[in-house]
Amino acid sequence: MSEAEDDQPAQVARDCVVSFHYELFDAGGEALESSRRREPVLILHGHGNVLPGVEAALLGRSPGERFEVTLAPGEAYGERREDARRRVSKKHLAGNTKRLAPGMQAGLRTAEGLRPVTVVKVGSSVVDVDLNHPLAGRSLRFDIEVVALRAASPEELAHGHVHGPGGHHH
Ligand code: ZN
Repeated sequence: MSEAEDDQPAQVARDCVVSFHYELFDAGGEALESSRRREPVLILHGHGNVLPGVEAALLGRSPGERFEVTLAPGEAYGERREDARRRVSKKHLAGNTKRLAPGMQAGLRTAEGLRPVTVVKVGSSVVDVDLNHPLAGRSLRFDIEVVALRAASPEELAHGHVHGPGGHHH
């Protein structure tokens, strides 16, 4: 991956562990998310841990480098679909379902894992949810700063994600 004496990568490449800060803006420049008040995000590059467009833009970058990447909705969380409302049983929603209210984000348990949904209407045992991702239909601009790089462990490569601080614990 590199010829550095300590065998740590100098540039982002597949199978590196990359830590980075990001700020996320919509097309109008409204700030949506930021990692700046938290620890940097850690990903195993090349394993689909982030949006493909972000992963591609990270390739070849070095620690300290800052850059922007703008993704169209289709490259980010998809176009908004009008037919994406579903009536689901409350028991399929994660967390405290007693406090659900229209407009809230909730997690719907699916075979593929927890899916973010927006609550539309709350009944006594069922909830109408909008399956569109909260950021669907929006162009997104990421301002990214690469913080650090290291080689991944064989175990991390086998699992396809980062272990230890900032990563998976299991
Ligand atoms: Zn693991």
